[in-house]
Amino acid sequence: MKIIQEIEKCTGCCMCMLACSMERENAFNVRYSRVQVSLNLSGLPTRISFSDRCDELLQTQCTLHYGVAECVQFCLPKALKMAKEPSAESEGVS
Ligand code: SF4
Ligand code: SF4
Repeated sequence: MKIIQEIEKCTGCCMCMLACSMERENAFNVRYSRVQVSLNLSGLPTRISFSDRCDELLQTQCTLHYGVAECVQFCLPKALKMAKEPSAESEGVS
């Protein structure tokens, strides 16, 4: 599993960060989130970046609830979505 993002849909609401910090660190604090949304001086989102640890967590803890990571569940504008990694079979690798 992996997360795909569409920055054009991001509103900068920070819900993904709060959801991650609460679920992973039991703290309602964006500083503890493993996803960070950068805003420009006008308050518009310019970048969504994930920690390297997300790759591992997406295979385990982050997808225990219905296969959808918490950061994705709380992204109401759907700037974040779950996507399955292409299998070796679908890539034509034997
Ligand atoms: S995948 Fe998991 S650890 Fe990474 S930002 Fe989303 S909720 Fe946090
Ligand atoms: S929850 Fe979605 S819309 Fe809100 S800041 Fe995060 S990525 Fe952007």
